[in-house]
Amino acid sequence: MERSFKKEVQALRLGRGETFRGEGILAVTKALLQSGVSYVGGYQGAPVSHLLDVLVDAEDIMGDLGVHLETCTNEASAAAMLAASINYPLRGAVTWKSIVGTNVAADALSNLSSPGVIGGALIIIGEDYGEGASVIQERSYAYAMKSSIWLLDPRPDLPSIVRAVEKGFELSEASHAPVMLELRIRACHVTGEFAAKDNRPGAYSGLNRLAGPPRFDYGKLSHPPVTFVQERLKIEERMPAARKFIRDEKLNEFIAGDLDDIGIVAMGGLTNSVLRTLSRLELADLFGQSRVPLYVLNCVYPLVPEEVREFCAEKRAVLVVEEGHPDYIEQAINVELRRADLQTRVIGKGPLPQAGEYTSEVLLKGIAAFLSEAKPRGLDVEAIDARARAILAQEPAAIAAVGELPPRPPTFCTGCPERPVFSAIKLAEREIGPVHISADIGCHSFASFAPFSLGNSILGYGMSLASAAAVGPNMKKRPIAIMGDGGFWHNGVITGVASNLFNKGDGVLLVMQNGYTSATGQQFMPSSLSNRDGTPGGMDIEKTLRSLGVKWLRTIRSYSVATMTKTLKEALNSTQHGLKVIIADGECQLARQRRVRAEDAEKLKRGRRVVRTRFGVDDEICTGDHSCIRLSGCPSLTVKPSLDPLRTDPVATVIESCVGCGLCGEVAHAAVLCPSFYRAEVVRNANAWDRALHAFRQTVIGWLGPREARA
Ligand code: SF4
Ligand code: SF4
Repeated sequence: MERSFKKEVQALRLGRGETFRGEGILAVTKALLQSGVSYVGGYQGAPVSHLLDVLVDAEDIMGDLGVHLETCTNEASAAAMLAASINYPLRGAVTWKSIVGTNVAADALSNLSSPGVIGGALIIIGEDYGEGASVIQERSYAYAMKSSIWLLDPRPDLPSIVRAVEKGFELSEASHAPVMLELRIRACHVTGEFAAKDNRPGAYSGLNRLAGPPRFDYGKLSHPPVTFVQERLKIEERMPAARKFIRDEKLNEFIAGDLDDIGIVAMGGLTNSVLRTLSRLELADLFGQSRVPLYVLNCVYPLVPEEVREFCAEKRAVLVVEEGHPDYIEQAINVELRRADLQTRVIGKGPLPQAGEYTSEVLLKGIAAFLSEAKPRGLDVEAIDARARAILAQEPAAIAAVGELPPRPPTFCTGCPERPVFSAIKLAEREIGPVHISADIGCHSFASFAPFSLGNSILGYGMSLASAAAVGPNMKKRPIAIMGDGGFWHNGVITGVASNLFNKGDGVLLVMQNGYTSATGQQFMPSSLSNRDGTPGGMDIEKTLRSLGVKWLRTIRSYSVATMTKTLKEALNSTQHGLKVIIADGECQLARQRRVRAEDAEKLKRGRRVVRTRFGVDDEICTGDHSCIRLSGCPSLTVKPSLDPLRTDPVATVIESCVGCGLCGEVAHAAVLCPSFYRAEVVRNANAWDRALHAFRQTVIGWLGPREARA
């Protein structure tokens, strides 16, 4: 995996009387162990990728408590794990990235929430919303509402997050419903401390196994006719039980303030931002005391009608700070107030935007506008407005001081094995013209940025081949579907390959076999060379495809641009009907470099020979055409001024970060560009042969020098 947490996870052993210090995700893991969890699992994805990494690194600690860990092949399999809590008093937690992961898990979630649970079932979702998000912008709230899964959104500080985990299990058991706990990116990475408790083993676990299954109970199945009963149970029993628990345990918070004819209802996860905004307006202090009363929803679904009424009664207006669309909470509060015949004005979307992250600037404008509109008694709203305008006026000055920043679109790592495949597609397209590209989720989606600008649609993880199904039959040229090995195992093998073969389809599938789910931090997957415990992986994409019935199949080293270009042209032009699969094989360079650098450092320490390959461009030969840059897109390949006074164009050059993958040379060769590229080997701790060879070369160069001069 990308980052090791081996050192940090030792804090998971802390017990009562000790203080835990660390990151939000580690705090979640500690809270799971303090809660007596029996099983954990999940599928990686930002912003909770490292929760799974932490769980893997803490496997020994969890093993001492008998906790089972499953690194699932997708979110659906993680959600299905929670079935263990339907019949048994087993607490379990799973994790994934939302909204996309929740979409994948949706079927299992519906079938889990219908019969409900007796053991606490917690789903920790990384709510990837707002600036920096890597997926479509939708909220997980809709899933909570439609499936009657309660949704916790704790304040982003460690004590609140830990309490949410612990109370989440209790809430789940008290109401017999699964609970989701959403963490935005900042909550995952926030650092702080909390008073630790002792870890405790689950009621049953790997150390204390259940004797056997319970008596057959049809009511535990999500199957008609009991599904009709289960629907009623959700509304008539589980929801009231959940609301009672939330109220009794004070999961939501009330912060009193002297401006009590108005108030703010905030999602727990946004509370720190709201308090910071009030503090900038001199209406709150750094310790969370506020002049504006706040109702903090650490549980955003279900709302507790009594609490809503109590907070809003006697107030002329409340502002609902609810990020994203639709405005579920704002609508629900409006309905509740109308039912109670309370005339409090509910303001939300309007001063605050309908869509997008509620950054500090957005909140500053929105809260200032709300105060101007609501005009709370005892507050000089004009002074507040002037203060907000003064703060906002600092922004243009700050921008001017920093100057225009260059755009930095994400791109492949230096030496990435996936980049050459897109160079090959570009070269193939030179001859056969543009083709439809069904792109997918993964590092290869960086090809949608310059210089490749390749990709016509992205429909989800592992969905590329399926999303080309209706394109191919309607287009003169075959489409190319691009899928990573992570996407292949996530669901591409079924939704794409099996479906294509079943329908006797056509088209070209390019599988990027780099050995890891790289974009999420290099976690292992079924075809990785080793499992998480270091034992051999054992599953093989090529064998899997052949066993399914793929006849046209080639495995090509991804850096072999000429061979890849030729194979692509063959696949695209073939008169043979049927799916054509090309496996582009090359280890993720980031993972490789991490491994190789550590190995080289060890060799150097022992005084052993280490060779590093570098590529370079001969200034005198480079014509300044820069096709190599346009075709490879390598960030180590750039330009510098020409030393030749007769040539004004800058020449290509290779900078220090080059990892010697050879792509630039391959592209120059495959595209018949120019012979400017050379390969060099930097040898450290040279042996006798290296020294003799070097001496010989120097001698020959010495001979050639005078001859050249003579000529
Ligand atoms: S992480 Fe690996 S696969 Fe992803 S861009 Fe970097 S080198 Fe390529
Ligand atoms: S400069 Fe060439 S050899 Fe070096 S990393 Fe980039 S493509 Fe690979």
